[in-house]
Formats: sequence, structure tokens, C-alpha cells
Amino acid sequence: MTECRILVFLGAPGAGKGTQTTRLVREFRMKHLSTGEALRQKAGEDTLLGNQARETMERGELVSDELVAEVVREYMTDFRNSTGFILDGFPRNLAQAELLEEIAGKTPIWVINIQVDEEVVIKRLSGRRQCMECGRISNVNFSPPRQEDVCDACGAKLVQRPDDLPDVIQRRLQVYREQTKPLTDFYTKKGCYFEVDGNQNADTVFKRISAHLTGEESSAGSPNLSADQSLA
Ligand code: AMP
Repeated sequence: MTECRILVFLGAPGAGKGTQTTRLVREFRMKHLSTGEALRQKAGEDTLLGNQARETMERGELVSDELVAEVVREYMTDFRNSTGFILDGFPRNLAQAELLEEIAGKTPIWVINIQVDEEVVIKRLSGRRQCMECGRISNVNFSPPRQEDVCDACGAKLVQRPDDLPDVIQRRLQVYREQTKPLTDFYTKKGCYFEVDGNQNADTVFKRISAHLTGEESSAGSPNLSADQSLA
């Protein structure tokens, strides 16, 4: 097994971080954590913390660094026992980036920023619908279900995430611009930053990311990898 690496996905909400994570987990057998998913689970619990998290998420704001730290530490306990660990949605601000440095220790961190134009992101997020039963995602703007509001896969009802409503999308994008985007400088200075154009289709984006990870392609600002450092 190759040495473990932490792969961080930056990118606005709707950039395709979740889609690319799913494919990388399948192809490279990496482990992963989506902090958004983990926090949605917490937000479903009828506890003080759960209710606070839900209210914050429904406003499109970031939940507290303390709660996120708890979630990340819980999921990353044995991250070194893998070829790689993908973080989808973490870190989202500088304090969280510092926390990740501490958790990672000597484990290398690679950062991939999936860059997507805001109008594309808005179209993706506002059209997104999720099946209440099987979790499958449809998009009324790009791949509408055969029957309105009904999941093609299992026939259950499709719902819109509360944070995919228009006002909340705008707030999430603002939070991204103000708090998460500055991380591009942080990681560029560390020399582990790579950008990919996420306006293209998911297959093309995946090929670019895979090539970067396996060292088949180099790009300005990428961590000059040799073949034996690849994740494959
Ligand atoms: P996502 O599914 O990644 O778009 O995340 C959905 C929501 O979960 C975000 O809008 C935040 O409210 C919350 N969230 C996810 N990751 C973080 C994080 N690293 N820090 C703070 N809040 C987060």
C-alpha cells in the first residue's frame, strides 16, 4: 500500500466535490468524509446541538468550528490506514485549515480546487432534488426525472434541500467567497494547490483529477509528483 495522503476538495457549493469524491472512492479505494453529510445527520437529531446545526445550515452559514472539529476528529481517527483520505467540505475557513494541519501531522495534504462559474453553480443547486428513500440525486435543470417529483430509481418522493432555496444559495456563495476562497492562497503558499475547471462534464473533470493524482500530468502550482508518490 502506498503512503497515505489527505486530499482536500475546495470549490463552491455545487462545484461537484461530492460527485468527484464518490468516483475517487470507487476507483482508488480511498476513504472519505463529507462534513456536510455528517452534519446533516447530526442536524437530524433532536438534541440542542442537532437543532443548532440544523438552523445554521438552513440559513446557509457555517456551523461552529467546535462542532466541525468534533465530527472531523471522530471520522479521521484511523485515516492513516488507507491509501488516501478525501475531505469534501472541510476545511472551510482558515481556523479549520490550521486544525487540519494539526490532525495531518506529517501526512501530505493535496488540495484540488474545482472551479465553476457562479451561474452554473446556481443552476445546479437550484435544480437539485434528492430522493427521500434511496438518496439518489436528480436535477430538474439537467436530468429531470421522468415524472415530476418522483425518483426514477425507486419511485419515492423527491425533495429540495432547504439550503438549496434561492436566498440560501446566495448566502452559501457569499460565505464561500468570504471564508473559504482565501484558503486558495493558504495552500498555494504551501505548494500543494491544484485547480481544475469544473464547468466541464463530470467525466472530463474526473480524468483531469486522476491524472493529477497519478502523476500523469503536471500543472503550475501542483505538487510535482513522481510516479511512486501516486495514489494509484
Ligand atoms: P455541503 O453539503 O458541503 O454544501 O454542506 C452543507 C452545509 O453544512 C454548509 O452550508 C454548512 O452549513 C455545513 N458545513 C459543511 N461543512 C462545514 C464545515 N467544514 N464548516 C462549517 N460548516 C460546514
